[in-house]
Amino acid sequence: MKSYEEITEQLRKPFPPGTVKVSSDGKRGHIPVQVYMSRLEDIAKSQWHWRIIGDPVLNFEKNFVIVKGEITLVDTVRQGLGIAKIAKVDTSSIKNALMTAESEAFRDACDKFKMGWQDLAPYRDWSTSPVFKDISGLHLNEGIVIDNFDPDVHSVMPSVGRECIKCKKQLSHNEELLLSLNGIKFAYCKEHIPQQLIKKQI
Ligand SMILES: [Zn+2]
Repeated sequence: MKSYEEITEQLRKPFPPGTVKVSSDGKRGHIPVQVYMSRLEDIAKSQWHWRIIGDPVLNFEKNFVIVKGEITLVDTVRQGLGIAKIAKVDTSSIKNALMTAESEAFRDACDKFKMGWQDLAPYRDWSTSPVFKDISGLHLNEGIVIDNFDPDVHSVMPSVGRECIKCKKQLSHNEELLLSLNGIKFAYCKEHIPQQLIKKQI
């Protein structure tokens, strides 16, 4: 087994030329999730672990989804936050948005371990990176930096806010997800959702 120091020293080494994907205006760059993942696999082997924390936050008023996750590396944990727009409220768009948000969260967590910093340095302006803390309901305990994050979106932070039309109970994010995945427009809680409307379990 390697120590945390040995692993991070290797993880932080520059990636091969051409790894950074650059936006068409040449101003922004990112490293694909698969690149981070395979480096973690190669170097940390069984000593790293990724998990999603809690339920995704789905906002169908503003059409975005937030996923929070964390990477455990040996004995050290770093969290990441990812946000993605939901193109429209249907099953595949929501799934796509969830996957994009998870990728962003994963990338964000990798960034906390300083992976790719040397490669991304030319595309970063540290002084103006948007930092946001304590988003209500997410209980973040450290500042989060997301590249290219749209402050107009994060200022409206997330409340789904619908109530079950039968019992008036506030719907959870999972209940909203269940309704969306089944194409159900009305707000039902888990208990009152008509069984014949459920196409599949999630
Ligand atoms: Zn109900």
